[in-house]
Amino acid sequence: MPSFVLPPAPPTVVSTSSGDLFPVRRVFCVGRNYADHAREMGSDPNREPPFFFAKPADAIVGGGTVPYPPATANLHHEVELVVAIGRGGADIAVESALDHVWGYTVGLDLTRRDMQEIAKKGGRPWDMAKGFDASGPVGVLRPVTEIGHPTRGAVTLDVSGQRRQTGDVSDMIWSVAEVVAHLSGLVTLAPGDLIFTGTPAGVGAVSRGDRLEARVEGVSDLTVTLI
Ligand code: MN
Repeated sequence: MPSFVLPPAPPTVVSTSSGDLFPVRRVFCVGRNYADHAREMGSDPNREPPFFFAKPADAIVGGGTVPYPPATANLHHEVELVVAIGRGGADIAVESALDHVWGYTVGLDLTRRDMQEIAKKGGRPWDMAKGFDASGPVGVLRPVTEIGHPTRGAVTLDVSGQRRQTGDVSDMIWSVAEVVAHLSGLVTLAPGDLIFTGTPAGVGAVSRGDRLEARVEGVSDLTVTLI
């Protein structure tokens, strides 16, 4: 039997409402899923197929303090409903897609917006704009058995007491079932995968010392202080 040449990294985990831990496998994000945010980013909010990018699993962290990342002067918040996959599959039909969902939480898709703008202009990848250390803080996961599948509910973000983002789960261009179905046509989904489902309008810059309070009504909330 060969042995590991280095100790294998422990799995990234997310707390759940029972106190048990959800092991994170991969992290996928929908690029654009609210018409008002697509417009504020200068895109056509027409219902073209959703596009995806990824963060490394260990970009996921819980609430509390999060370090302001290096190499940016324009760190943006994006509050999102996050889907946790419990059952894997490929080419999943929209009609059965929700059967693959274990639960939900709220997350922040933290973004180096300055780096992303340069990447967009140059046709370069977004990885370093989106997938840096601690770029995916998430709240406590709640299982479908407890909260069902949210179809409406306010999606909000306050920065140091001021409301910055407001949307509603019902405003998503692509529903959770449609997102899961689309993504499963690109990769074989696996238990432990997380999907950030896109952000509503109002994204903006944050600074060291700011307190970010993210919430999806009826799902979960998350407080992050940037240090
Ligand atoms: Mn996002």
